[in-house]
Amino acid sequence: MSRTREEIKFLLTYKFRAYPSVLLEYKMENWLYILCNLYNHALEERKRAWKEEKKTITYSHQQNSLPELKRKDPFLKLVHSQVLQDCLRRVDNAFQKFFRKEAKYPKKKKLSRYNSFTFPQVWMKQKDKLTGDPKLTEVIKLERKNGRFVYLHLPKLGKLKIRLHKQIDWTRAKTVTIKREPSGKWYVCITVEVELEEILREAQERVVGIDLGVKNLATTSEGEFIQHPKFLQKLEKRLKREQKKLSRKKKGSTNWEKQKERLAKIHERIRNARRDFLHKLSRYLVDSYDHISFENLNIKELVQNISLAKLILDAGWGTLITFATYKAVMAGARVVRVDPSYTTQDCSVCGFRVPKTLAERLHECPECGAVMDRDYNASLNILRKGLAHLTGGRVGATRTYACGEGSGGAPSQEGVSHPSLKQESPRGSPG
Ligand SMILES: [Zn+2]
Repeated sequence: MSRTREEIKFLLTYKFRAYPSVLLEYKMENWLYILCNLYNHALEERKRAWKEEKKTITYSHQQNSLPELKRKDPFLKLVHSQVLQDCLRRVDNAFQKFFRKEAKYPKKKKLSRYNSFTFPQVWMKQKDKLTGDPKLTEVIKLERKNGRFVYLHLPKLGKLKIRLHKQIDWTRAKTVTIKREPSGKWYVCITVEVELEEILREAQERVVGIDLGVKNLATTSEGEFIQHPKFLQKLEKRLKREQKKLSRKKKGSTNWEKQKERLAKIHERIRNARRDFLHKLSRYLVDSYDHISFENLNIKELVQNISLAKLILDAGWGTLITFATYKAVMAGARVVRVDPSYTTQDCSVCGFRVPKTLAERLHECPECGAVMDRDYNASLNILRKGLAHLTGGRVGATRTYACGEGSGGAPSQEGVSHPSLKQESPRGSPG
């Protein structure tokens, strides 16, 4: 079963240059100062609680103590409450990353390294005062001007001028992050929820993500499973048999020479058959798709894993990518190689990281309940990463600060990760 594309939603992050007035810049610097202090305070609180009482402090605990903090430190009232909450969220993320062994123990941040803050909601659900019906109200307003400049009305800050080099649908904006670059320039990162279908329509391209694997040679995000060719396995068995025969013959004898020749012929047949198969497969891929994403495999590194070594060498992953790449050039298609980190582990539906051993064939997400073939899940993640190249925007997750401080660390390296949480989970394995 493959999921329908209408169900898949992405968060794209767009980065725009901002031009704050002198006063606004002063206010934003002030916010960074206040937020940096809050960040370090929240961090210290967790550290101390653990050290002294072996107590774990949660995000919700820290969020609930915000009003009390505000009473003690009235400066906090200068900052929008959701931005304060987001700051605490960053502390929480830093600890979660540490617990998952993905990062070192969170450290205090220097003011010079605390460079961004996030409004986690552009639109807020509220009840209509008259009718009581739920309605959406803007937390941040977008004021359009003639030309390419627009104003963002940031609560408690004021009007921020930005250059909108790409049109965005404001009704679907999700978060706004204000960022100060080391150069002193300011940027605004806006995440917008987009349906995959729309991206594809706009791109007018057929896109695919391909996972190369041990069990299946290739698994596509369209739910195609391409097996390692059987005839190669047969030839390889024969090769082994003939090799044994060779070892039993006296080195340098006529029979030994004959046997060696026989072996060389099988080697050649295998080489040719494999090349032939990979040519056909790459032809099929390039004919079927305009935009093909592979993982940027570090084959050398993989081959060091001895149990896998033979399969990988035989599978010809590298050759397949090479063939597809040059065929794509001639056909006007594109082959993209994406960062392979966590493509197998991350849930393609909600982004939750689900560690797996090589033996686990199924991806089962405890977070959103998605169940699907392991390789199919990976192919969807590879597609998602590849799409970032296609859209020019960055594909982010609901829980990732695509261009902010992230979870207290650096923003995700490619700024590419998960879809939003709002979709139906595909269940069952395709094929
Ligand atoms: Zn999930």
